[in-house]
Amino acid sequence: MQPQIQSKLPNVGTTIFTVMSVLAAENKAINLGQGMPDYPMNEELVAMVCQAMKDGYNQYVHMNGYMPLRETIAEKVEFLYQTKINPDTQITVTPGGTYALYTALTTVLQPGDEVIVFEPGYDSYIPSIEVNGAKAVRIPLTFPDYKIDWALTKSRITERTRGIMINSPHNPTGSVLSREDIEQLRAITKDTQIIIVSDEVYEHLMFDGKPHQSILRYPDLMERSFVSFSFGKVYHCTGWKLGYSISSPSLMKEFRKIHQFNAFCCDTPKQVALASFLKQKDHYLQLGDFFQKKRDFFRNLMSQTRFEPLPSYGSYFQVYSYKNISDEAEKDIAIRLTKEIRVATIPVAAFYTDETNNQVLRFCFAKTESALETAAERLMKL
Ligand code: PMP
Ligand code: GLN
Repeated sequence: MQPQIQSKLPNVGTTIFTVMSVLAAENKAINLGQGMPDYPMNEELVAMVCQAMKDGYNQYVHMNGYMPLRETIAEKVEFLYQTKINPDTQITVTPGGTYALYTALTTVLQPGDEVIVFEPGYDSYIPSIEVNGAKAVRIPLTFPDYKIDWALTKSRITERTRGIMINSPHNPTGSVLSREDIEQLRAITKDTQIIIVSDEVYEHLMFDGKPHQSILRYPDLMERSFVSFSFGKVYHCTGWKLGYSISSPSLMKEFRKIHQFNAFCCDTPKQVALASFLKQKDHYLQLGDFFQKKRDFFRNLMSQTRFEPLPSYGSYFQVYSYKNISDEAEKDIAIRLTKEIRVATIPVAAFYTDETNNQVLRFCFAKTESALETAAERLMKL
């Protein structure tokens, strides 16, 4: 007899990223859907990982991460955000940013707790809350500028609120938090038991001269936060699945209890290579310019189509409205465009729980110029 199990996530299907990437491959479409570069990563870093393997760094490393890498991360944090982080007690290297978020939530949540999440939001957040028996309290970002309505957020806080998730630069919309947002966050969490889970995987991908408002800049907020990062975004290698979490020593101590019985530790040769490569600041300092140029290159091309851009101040993404083209639902048009004109995108509706149709699609511009050109030529026909 086939045993039956009760689903922990009964309402969850396959993530939209996989759905659209499979469809893109089947139709040989240009994939501007799933957020991943289509160009090679830095060869020097690849060579350093190979060298680390040849040098024998092929066994388990310390469960919290290779210490020289954690030390380099702490130096980088101090350089960027003027905050001293203890690499021994406050940094844990993780198999990617998503895992770091999941582990933070699992560390904190008890059944019945509530966590505030903003929609649209990255699709792992709500399942990671619910699998822990907690409840996601969903608050819409304003449309079309995708900002947090702080008065509404404050009104949704109850004695069961245990967490609030923020993400800047924001996936899927490219909006970013301002200093004023940080003040509001400080005001609503002050004197509460609320933990902030801050997803900062796009920390370097900031455009138009705006500073990244990292939680790491604010020691009082750090006390109550888990902050997640991903090397995949920094070095154009999303398939590496390597990142890290930073928190206060007491929160991190509990995080590590969960981590040690899940992944235990991460890929050793990559950590050895990154421990020195991460010291080269130029690589991450020029990422904002690099992706801003891609955003602008694609936006110029798109100005010859009937799509209308919404602002993107950071991340890999820009949202475009198709209201001049069709009144189809977002998922329907995304599927149709993949099949008919062979350009894949992501419907922003996939980042909401309730049915939503703002007639917008998310385009990933972390692609070669030729891919962006070919995609735009096809979109001009609409
Ligand atoms: N958060 C957001 C908002 C992302 O877009 C991504 C990218 N996939 C991640 C987290 C996780 O990155 P990783 O692949 O390192 O898990
Ligand atoms: N972060 C990427 C995106 O938003 C994809 C992540 C994933 O495929 N899980 O497109």
